[in-house]
Amino acid sequence: MIRRYRVGWLFTMCGSPIQDATVMVEDGRIVSIEETGIWRDAVDLSQWAIMPALVNAHTHLEFSNLNHPLGTEGMTFPQWITEVIRYRQGFGENIAIEKAQAIRSGVKQSAEHGVGVVGEIATLPLMEVAYDRPEVHVVSMLEVLGLDPEREAERIGQARDHAVYPWSSESVSAGLSPHAPYSAPVRLIEQVVQLSQQYQLPLAMHLAESREELELLEQGTGPFRMMLENMGLFQESDFPGGKKPADYIKLLAPAHRAMVVHGNYLAEPDIAAIKQHKETMTVCYCPRTHAYFHHDRHPLEALLADGIRVVLGTDSRSSSPDLDLWAEVQLVNEIFPNIPPEQLLPMVTRDAAFALGVEDSFGRIDPGQKAIVSAFEIGNDCPDVLLAMLGGQPRLWNLGDGLTQLDLATA
Ligand SMILES: [Zn+2]
Repeated sequence: MIRRYRVGWLFTMCGSPIQDATVMVEDGRIVSIEETGIWRDAVDLSQWAIMPALVNAHTHLEFSNLNHPLGTEGMTFPQWITEVIRYRQGFGENIAIEKAQAIRSGVKQSAEHGVGVVGEIATLPLMEVAYDRPEVHVVSMLEVLGLDPEREAERIGQARDHAVYPWSSESVSAGLSPHAPYSAPVRLIEQVVQLSQQYQLPLAMHLAESREELELLEQGTGPFRMMLENMGLFQESDFPGGKKPADYIKLLAPAHRAMVVHGNYLAEPDIAAIKQHKETMTVCYCPRTHAYFHHDRHPLEALLADGIRVVLGTDSRSSSPDLDLWAEVQLVNEIFPNIPPEQLLPMVTRDAAFALGVEDSFGRIDPGQKAIVSAFEIGNDCPDVLLAMLGGQPRLWNLGDGLTQLDLATA
C-alpha cells in the first residue's frame, strides 16, 4: 500500500528545500517525491516542515537516568573523569540490568526529542534488549579501552564478537569505539581500526578533547599522568611524549568510517591530517558538553572551511542536561551566527548518518531511505521556515505507519 503525504516544506538533504511536495511511502521506505502537492488522497501536512529523522552522532545512553550532569560546570576534564569513574562504581550487582534500564530510557528520550538514529557508546557488549524501539535506530559502538596489556586479547575478542553479532532487530547495527588516547594504548587502537576495516563498521574515538590530554601526549605529564599513576596504570612506554592528535588521526585513517569525537583542541596540522582523509573521516562536535567544560572556542569554522564533515552529538547526560539534539543545533546557531542555518542541517542528518555508516537508510529524504522523519509545525504562510524550525521542537514520525489526526493534534 502506497501512502502519500503532502508536505508544506520538505528538506531532503539532497538539493534545495521543496515547497509543497508530496512524499510517497511503501513498506516503511520512501519510494518517490513529487514536487507538487496535487494528490487528493494525500495526508495533509501542509502546515509542517519535514526533514530526515535527526541523527545524534555521539552519546553514552547508560547515563540517561541522571537528572543533571556530574560534577560542576567549568571543572577540568580529568576532575570530571574521576566523577564518572566514581559514578560507575556506584552501579550495583545487577549492573547489566541497571544499565539496560538507563539505555532504554535514553532511547525513549531520544525519540521524544525527534531523534531517529543514535550513535551510542556501549560499555557492555550486545545490549540488544535495551534498544527496543523500532522507530529509533541504534548504532551500538562498543567501547574498547584498557592500558593493561594482559587483557588486550580478551578486549579484542569482545570487540570481534560485537562486530559479527547477528542482531535480531534491523533497527540495531554495530560500531566500535577505542575510548581515548589516555585510556587506550596505540596497539589496542590499531587492532580496533583493523576490525572496523575488516567488518566495514563505523568507529568513533574521543580525541583532542582537553588541554590535559594534549599535555599527556606531548610531554607525558600532567593531571592525566597523575590519575593513571594513582590507578597503577601509568607506563612511560604508553606515553613517551612528542605525540599530537595528528598521530592518532593517522592511526584511525584506515577505518571504514572514523569519527573524531569532540576535537575541541584540534590545531592546524591535526585539521590538515583529517582533511587528507575526509572521504571517510568526520569530526563530532558536542556543543553543550563543550560549553559545560568552558573549553576554548571550537575549531568548527576551520573544519568546515576545509570541507570536512562535522556532525553533532549530545554526548551523555553526565556532561549535558538532556538528549535534545535540536538544542545542540540551536546553540551552534547562537555561537556561530555566521554559519548559515541550512549548513547546520546536514550535521544532524546526512553527514551524521554517513559518520555512523547508516547512510543507505537514514540522513536523506530520497527513494530507498527509511520513511522516518523529523517534523516541525510551521503553520500557514511561514515567512522564514528555517527560522521557525530553529525556534521549534522536532517530532519523530514514522511515515511508514501512517499518521492519524491524533498524531497531528497531539504534536
Ligand atoms: Zn563521549
